[in-house]
Amino acid sequence: MSERKNAKEHERVIDHCLIFDVDGVLTDPQTKEVTDPAGLTLLAERLRKDEPIILNTGRAVDFILEKIMPKLSDDAGKDKLKNVLVVAEKGGVVLLYNDQGEPQIVEDKSYSVPEEVHAQVKELVAQKYGDTMFYDATKRTMLSVEMIDNGDLEKFGKAQERIIEDFKVTLTRAKIEKEFVIDPTIIATDIQHRDVGKALGVRKALRWLGQQNVAPKEFLTFGDSTSDLPMAAELAKLGKPGKFIFVGEPQKISGVETEFPIVQTSDRFEQGVKEFLQSLNHSQS
Ligand SMILES: [Mg+2]
Repeated sequence: MSERKNAKEHERVIDHCLIFDVDGVLTDPQTKEVTDPAGLTLLAERLRKDEPIILNTGRAVDFILEKIMPKLSDDAGKDKLKNVLVVAEKGGVVLLYNDQGEPQIVEDKSYSVPEEVHAQVKELVAQKYGDTMFYDATKRTMLSVEMIDNGDLEKFGKAQERIIEDFKVTLTRAKIEKEFVIDPTIIATDIQHRDVGKALGVRKALRWLGQQNVAPKEFLTFGDSTSDLPMAAELAKLGKPGKFIFVGEPQKISGVETEFPIVQTSDRFEQGVKEFLQSLNHSQS
């Protein structure tokens, strides 16, 4: 009892905790690059004030280390990276920083696609799908086969129908077809544990905030696709107040009914994030 009381006393209450999808939110959806760094500068300002920033993505940690972290480190200072949590690979891998700003990568092996399945798929892609796809060697727990850069979406789509059938055979042969699922998107085909996803990322984020004794009054989740909605849905389910900030194409979300409020920005993608954060800063000052 006394321990719990102590924890409460040390709790740091903050107004907002920001949780971001990455593709199409912090990077441009087409080029997969940061094209407007102003959004990251606004994130860095929050890090400097010791406010947490959480990224929740299907991307590998390597992508985040290359595209996002250098800018945050430059703007906020290395020692402030301790306020960042990156949940990568849909919850399978976590990247966090110590007080000196040194990164630590933690793999959750309970969600790992078996090594032999990785090897089989790598071989399969090399033999049959090399003209449209490549095996993503940066993934540690999940498995991704992505469209080659500047590939033809239609050609990829046709090949994807075939690789899905091949994946089903691979999973059945490995006797893991109940634990692992195939997740096709317009540019990739993933094999992942059935329990990973944006909701798992949110639960990992809450655990991390708890360890830091940070208690946000409100959670703001940012996404550009309906596949990001489970972030806000999980928070609502757990009784955490929050809003979902939608920065994607409006038609994607029109008519979608949710148990939490959705804010639609006028600008899209990186610019939508910038717009919302500027208005948030304005309302706080
Ligand atoms: Mg996205």
